Amino acid sequence: MQILLVEDDQSLADGLCKALRNVGFITNHVRDGKAARHVIEVEPPDIVVLDLGLPDMDGLDVLKSIRANGSTIPVLILTARSSVDARVSGLDLGADDYLPKPFETPELIARLRVIERRLSTVLQSNIHVGNVSLDTIRQQVCLDDVPVELPRREYMVLKQLMENIGKVQTREQLETRLYAWGEEVSSNAIEVHVHHLRKKLGSDLIKTIRGVGYTIRKP
Ligand code: CA
Repeated sequence: MQILLVEDDQSLADGLCKALRNVGFITNHVRDGKAARHVIEVEPPDIVVLDLGLPDMDGLDVLKSIRANGSTIPVLILTARSSVDARVSGLDLGADDYLPKPFETPELIARLRVIERRLSTVLQSNIHVGNVSLDTIRQQVCLDDVPVELPRREYMVLKQLMENIGKVQTREQLETRLYAWGEEVSSNAIEVHVHHLRKKLGSDLIKTIRGVGYTIRKP
């Protein structure tokens, strides 16, 4: 699950990025509305965590522009404006949740988990390819109906390929789903994950498209 945190308070942002990454969210951070709008357009995250008091514009205007472009990305608002009016206007503009500052990080994580669960039930939850099945709600992979334990990043590679069956995923696309910006990624990281997946799930499942990336073909 990829999160974009829009927050101009650097120390709060640093703490949140660390906490969210620790629980497995791929978290990227921008500090103003202009950067947020750009990222949401070119590399849309799964969830936006949006502060309202931004240096260059009101966070509510960022929210308006997201919805005006037809995007349904879930947006969780973080703000010191805790009046009922502020809360209602955020929700009216299409925010999915609203967390007044100050808040406890575990509460933010719990609310993100709720949004994550809602997203995965909207998407197809059970995908089968040959003798491999993936349950995105329980985050469970089975081979011949026997559960296979996968480390988080191997699971994410498999999920990305199975949810996009028949389409080629480039290495760059896979990397952006797996790593936050600036995170150290070795040049063969994706190859290594695929190598492990093939050992665990059979060598035929994931096809290499030479020079481009990987795909899982429709059976
Ligand atoms: Ca602020």
